[in-house]
Amino acid sequence: MNSTTPLVDNALVWFRRDLRCTDHAAFYHALKSARKVWCVFVFDNHILDKLPRQDRRVQFILNSLTELDFALKKHQQGSGVLTQYGDPAMLIPALAKQLRVQTVFVNRDDEPYSLKRDEQVCGHLNEAGIGFHSFKDTVVFEREEILTANQTPYSVFTPYKNNWLKKINDFYLKAYSVEPYLHHLAAIPSNVATSWLNRIPNANEIGFDACDDLKLPWGMSGAKMLLADFLSRMDNYDTQRDYPAVKGPSYLSTHLRFGTISIRNLAHIAWHKAEQGSNGAKTWLSELIWRDFYHQILWHHPHVVTHAFKRDYDKIQWATGTHANALFLAWCQGMTGFPLVDAAMRQLNQTGYMHNRLRMVTASFCIKDLGIDWRRGEAYFAEKLLDFDLAANNGGWQWAASSGCDAQPYFRIFNPVNQSQKFDPQGHFIRRYVPELAALSNKAIHTPWINRPANLDYPAPIVQHDEARTTTLARYAVVKSALDA
Ligand code: FAD
Repeated sequence: MNSTTPLVDNALVWFRRDLRCTDHAAFYHALKSARKVWCVFVFDNHILDKLPRQDRRVQFILNSLTELDFALKKHQQGSGVLTQYGDPAMLIPALAKQLRVQTVFVNRDDEPYSLKRDEQVCGHLNEAGIGFHSFKDTVVFEREEILTANQTPYSVFTPYKNNWLKKINDFYLKAYSVEPYLHHLAAIPSNVATSWLNRIPNANEIGFDACDDLKLPWGMSGAKMLLADFLSRMDNYDTQRDYPAVKGPSYLSTHLRFGTISIRNLAHIAWHKAEQGSNGAKTWLSELIWRDFYHQILWHHPHVVTHAFKRDYDKIQWATGTHANALFLAWCQGMTGFPLVDAAMRQLNQTGYMHNRLRMVTASFCIKDLGIDWRRGEAYFAEKLLDFDLAANNGGWQWAASSGCDAQPYFRIFNPVNQSQKFDPQGHFIRRYVPELAALSNKAIHTPWINRPANLDYPAPIVQHDEARTTTLARYAVVKSALDA
């Protein structure tokens, strides 16, 4: 696999987590180098077979693909996205042969499963004399682009970010302008149209139930709308982003996950606004850099998928058994008796989104108040989050567990009541998701167990925070002695 662009007659662009047709590295290189270009998306059975039959992400993908397909057909009648459900390792080489393409173009995806899959696809293609060319597109800087002076990967964020900011310039953020080459999009030949769908199937056709409660606008147009809305608020991001009841963040994470907007576009805006002195833009750019940071961590340290980044933390004995399972279930359902934690978990369950501050609070609560293995919480988020991204989710959970790179120290344990009083002082967010508590005063809403109203239909706290804190410090002692040794 390499990234030099060959000159060929026919090319295939395989879309994966990059569901747009503007500023798209692989699409640009294919269009620029081939006379005829076709586009494909495979509903990967290895990923989809494991999901529940109703999944908001699948609906987001289907809706976004529908928009992409429409946009391609508008540029070139008879073109569009070819689709099929199955194993990409078999389907992509078969389609490439059928279309007689010389090269398949993709944007790189550095998750361990995707790397293995692409290696297989590349092998099968090469056996048939077909090239496989991959490009950086998902992040601004990938893999080994930002290294320490000793040429080793960074494991601490601030120096990584400083180096990232030192290296960034307009070249890295320049858009891939596909528009001059769109006439190379080709109509689907009839022999292919019989074995492949030349349209986007609906949820039922790929074995899923439709999800009609998507709260997020999808596709390139949805991303554009959210960005326009955020641009008017970006300057205030640094002061507003921590308050879940306030519209502070961008809500673009799902669009970044599925590539309905280009990271270069976003980083370009943030970087220029930051250079002009906007503190909001500066802070937001920092978040985009966290995203790059976690992606390179996953690339350099794939063991984080199943193990602690800091191996010593694998020695921790997590709570198990019936009682631990009951605590975990209460956490999943938003029934812990801690209002902010419950409001956050219900936001996740009802919408597929959770505010960043609350991801930190709920992850900390799951690990350090309930003693649950961070991997169980991580898996629950992975199932529910619309924006689930292995690198960012794993990074966030290991940060909360203190086992990751640049994580918070193990003895720093969020107090769920203090967090609630500080970040939702009037209880607006709590009232939205925990209506049982709506009638309580702004003060009482954070601690409903104090002077508990007789008719309150809300659980008592499932743990005592101070006791849990002591247990957690004892549980983490194994790490402290390992670190001291
Ligand atoms: P904004 O505040 O507008 O940030 C802009 C973008 O920067 C986000 O869309 C996201 O792409 C990126 N970003 C922001 N914060 C982080 C971060 N800490 N790490 C990496 N990238 C970041 N983010 C995901 O995209 N997918 C996940 O699965 C995910 N799981 C998380 C789990 C935990 C336990 C924690 C603590 C954080 C997690 N995050 C995850 C990071 C962050 O919470 C979300 O990116 C953010 O809340 C998404 O909302 P937004 O788009 O409005 O963010």
